[in-house]
Amino acid sequence: MKVIVAEKCGFCPGVRNAISIAEKILAQKNDVYSLGPIIHNKDMVRRLAKTGLKTVDSVKEIRSGTVLIRSHGAAPEQIAKLKKKELNIVDATCVLVKRVQQIARELDRDGYKVVVIGDENHPEIQAVVGCAGDVVVVADESDLHKLPKNSRLGVVCQTTQNPEHFSKMLCAIGRQGFSELKVINTLCKEAIKRQESAVELCKQVDIMFVLGGLESANTCRLAELCKKYNSQTFHLQNWNELNTIVLSGKNIAGVTAGASTPEWIIAEFVENLETANTGSR
Ligand code: SF4
Repeated sequence: MKVIVAEKCGFCPGVRNAISIAEKILAQKNDVYSLGPIIHNKDMVRRLAKTGLKTVDSVKEIRSGTVLIRSHGAAPEQIAKLKKKELNIVDATCVLVKRVQQIARELDRDGYKVVVIGDENHPEIQAVVGCAGDVVVVADESDLHKLPKNSRLGVVCQTTQNPEHFSKMLCAIGRQGFSELKVINTLCKEAIKRQESAVELCKQVDIMFVLGGLESANTCRLAELCKKYNSQTFHLQNWNELNTIVLSGKNIAGVTAGASTPEWIIAEFVENLETANTGSR
């Protein structure tokens, strides 16, 4: 089968940096924890666990040692708890995620009601919410009722959102007639490049595969977008999840991967796909 890999896919600089920090720390120290998965990719988390990284859900589970702050960041309240326990903190938060946190703080300080366009259950957003007082998170237009009337709004966006959704939400917020609306574009260019490249590719192929964690926001965004243009789109974590029956009669496959999907997962998938039996002649 002919396989085309998206021009831009896989690890972004933020994830690459977090993994490289984790590997360095693990080579130097014992008792290394990550507060939540270091990145949203189970295969990578499993690989790091084999070299000693312990993933925990709360500060309570850590007694001593080193704590890695993952690429999505952590809320100031969590950092304060870690400091109180006198743990060694190593910050692997992506600089672009830190930027959103800093902007939220500044907007709050300047008297704006901070609004974040994004998913309130995502760790990146939970950390941003902790950086400013009383932040409102809106996922889509059905959440607009949450916006406080008669306020000066300061709007930012989850880094991995899609630019079209960001602009659609800005228009919808604008129509609500707020006296002042300050918008800061906090979208990540790396995530946008992966989206553009995936959309371009999925239009040219019979079947499209999006590789990456099911909780990975940027991977889910890639899958949503590709499904819009190619109904034969499948979001999988790795080769083992593929039911080869979907390849039947297909000649050209496209492959993309989220910003937290390691190179070895992509390479293994492509290699197997190239030699898979598709029933085509
Ligand atoms: S996708 Fe962008 S914001 Fe998220 S970790 Fe990667 S570089 Fe940072």
